[in-house]
Amino acid sequence: MPQYRAAWLLPVSQPPIRDAWLRTDRGRIIAFGHSRPGDFTADDEIDLGEVAVLPGLVNAHTHIELSWMRGRIPETDDFDGWIRRIIELKNESASHGGAVAAAIEEAIREARAFGTAAVGDITNTLATAEPLDRHGMPAVVFHELLGFRSEDAQRVMDDAAARLRDMPASDFVRHTLAPHAPYSVSPALFGLIRAALQRVPFSRSSVHLGESGAEIELLKSGTGACRAGLERMGKWDSSWVAPQSGPVEYLDRMGFLDDRVLVVHGVRFVAAELKRLAALGTTVVTCPRGNIRTGAGSPPIEDFFESGVRLAVGTDSLASVPDLNLFAELEQMRRIAPAVPARLLIESATIAGARALGFDADLGTIDSGKRDALIAVQLDGYVPSVEEYLVSGIDAAQISWISAS
Ligand SMILES: [Zn+2]
Repeated sequence: MPQYRAAWLLPVSQPPIRDAWLRTDRGRIIAFGHSRPGDFTADDEIDLGEVAVLPGLVNAHTHIELSWMRGRIPETDDFDGWIRRIIELKNESASHGGAVAAAIEEAIREARAFGTAAVGDITNTLATAEPLDRHGMPAVVFHELLGFRSEDAQRVMDDAAARLRDMPASDFVRHTLAPHAPYSVSPALFGLIRAALQRVPFSRSSVHLGESGAEIELLKSGTGACRAGLERMGKWDSSWVAPQSGPVEYLDRMGFLDDRVLVVHGVRFVAAELKRLAALGTTVVTCPRGNIRTGAGSPPIEDFFESGVRLAVGTDSLASVPDLNLFAELEQMRRIAPAVPARLLIESATIAGARALGFDADLGTIDSGKRDALIAVQLDGYVPSVEEYLVSGIDAAQISWISAS
């Protein structure tokens, strides 16, 4: 039953505690508090020194199977060009087999080294499920489906259901289905995914939404770069009718959005859409570094917080960011939104992500009974605000896990 001492403890569910102690037992947090001078010292106490102890972070959106693409797509302000490039690379991935598998292993290790306790991982191939399980990384693996032609919907769904039936049970990994985006998934396929999820007691889903101007144009008027791309690939559906609405209204009318759905990016969301998502309990996942590098634009971080919507954070894939450091996403959010309290940014990378993925009974805060998946971040001497320090840019060298879990 180890007892730890640390300069700071950030429970997230309550304000930071200075000169703190924490006791764990068999992988769970037992008790914690402020140490007064002369307090009893346990024999097996471990003094962690000038560190801030906080819950391991939750990366609510990444694509670990794309890790082999690290450094292959330069930063751009042409989002449609970025999409074309990633489709080309995805088509090549079969010829990079060994490199793809090695990059998945490396990415999971890297995520752990940056203090990640759980991930929401998008996969088209399901290749990440076994490595995530073997590394003991709690994950919701979203099997992502694409298909804009309604006539393909049933076949896409049946194939996916068969693949999921073949997946072995896991202590760490939960599998579910996710439509890619409104410009790549037909209303028929959205409907089938929705119906399949409702039959499963645990049913999270995720969709890329409000990411680019081309998506907004397609839904408003049925024209633009999304349509041109689908036509080029022979995947346009001439029976599809533009809903003449924004992306949130489009999916809400289909009955797709609720408190078990994560909508990713939201760079283009307007105030009314954020209000609607807040009322539905839907979580927005922001990936600010990726949005800037792909040309999607800077996400409206202040508007997200002002709207009261649930907000989690993801790195997106190594195709668009240089590393899986969620602290670097917090640093980017701080740059975009200097007026938002650091406490709220930290909440988005911990409890909000844990809640969105359904891991909040075990992760996301320091509270009695939760798992001891805790990290210690080395502080740079005296810091006037520990929360502000944690959103100012933290590197892997500063991070250690305080237990084996
Ligand atoms: Zn993504």
